[in-house]
Amino acid sequence: MHNYNVFALQQFILHIKGAHVHEMCMHSMMMTYHIIHISTCNINLRLIRLIYFSVHHFYITTCYIHCSTYSRGKEFRTAFQEIHTLKAYFPSVPFAALSGTLTTEQLRTIPSALGLHKPVIIEENPDRPNIFLEVKKKPQADSTVDQYEGIYITECDKLFESPSAYPVTLMYLPLEWCAEASSYCEEKFGGQVALTDCRYGVIFSRQDKVVLDELTNDLKKDTPRVRLVFCTSAVGMGFNAPNISHVIHGKPPRNLSDYFQEIGRAGRSGQAAKATLYYSPRDIASNVPGLKPDIVAYCKTEGCLRETILANYGFSKPASAPTGCNCCSNCKHSCECDSCLLEAVQIMDLASNGT
Ligand SMILES: [Zn+2]
Ligand SMILES: [Zn+2]
Repeated sequence: MHNYNVFALQQFILHIKGAHVHEMCMHSMMMTYHIIHISTCNINLRLIRLIYFSVHHFYITTCYIHCSTYSRGKEFRTAFQEIHTLKAYFPSVPFAALSGTLTTEQLRTIPSALGLHKPVIIEENPDRPNIFLEVKKKPQADSTVDQYEGIYITECDKLFESPSAYPVTLMYLPLEWCAEASSYCEEKFGGQVALTDCRYGVIFSRQDKVVLDELTNDLKKDTPRVRLVFCTSAVGMGFNAPNISHVIHGKPPRNLSDYFQEIGRAGRSGQAAKATLYYSPRDIASNVPGLKPDIVAYCKTEGCLRETILANYGFSKPASAPTGCNCCSNCKHSCECDSCLLEAVQIMDLASNGT
């Protein structure tokens, strides 16, 4: 089982993009392997068996395991549970399982779920050093309405003031708030503008295909026109927008694995990026359905956020990882670099002038 970092995995996926089952050849000194890649969401065991029996060669069967294997829909879970039968059909075929985000708990349980006996595990630290991690408590507000409004209004106003300088931003919000945020932007920009001129957009599972294609194609450009995208967690795994430099969450997702996977959309070209998570006490209350303790701990910790995420995958912060104000909002608090000390003095001056 391979626990690739996101870049390595992205490179692999680029090789096999497109259909749900792919075949490619890998030449070694001794023989040619035909590699069948299976996207777990759409596994078709009958098709795989057909391919196997029609071409008489060795195969490596590969399977990309998403971090949230167990939290996806019923269809996905059913497909995943069937993969182990491949080992029964083809016991001698080498089998590689790939993931960008496997927690230590998943690493312990998934090999047996796949029917793998004593697999060789190759791991790489999944740290994304170019992403600055930030947790913010939502501003005190009388209602949920004000809490979300405070977040998207600030961003939309910044976008309006300077669209070209605004970093390409993906903002995760509940569906109803995606609609509210989009309406606010529309009003701010003076009413409805043509799809091909619009600076913002919304991605959700039932978005119109024409709108979705326009958005995703634009976001793949070197300098996208669209700078602010409101989205739900339904944004697909294949969504690839290398210029995203800021991922904002209006509320915590259900667990830390989902969070890490979702912020992985930032900084994919290696550019400096930021991941901001907003939370309120209500968002992380013990009665929120499906909420895992790991994401609650991430919101509450006063320790290093990078350490907290990496510990979830059984890793610690590498020596090469950013430190102080380049690492996370918690490390920034105790940073004593010249720029942070100057910032602290300026804040103190402002406070004393105000009194
Ligand atoms: Zn840190
Ligand atoms: Zn600093």
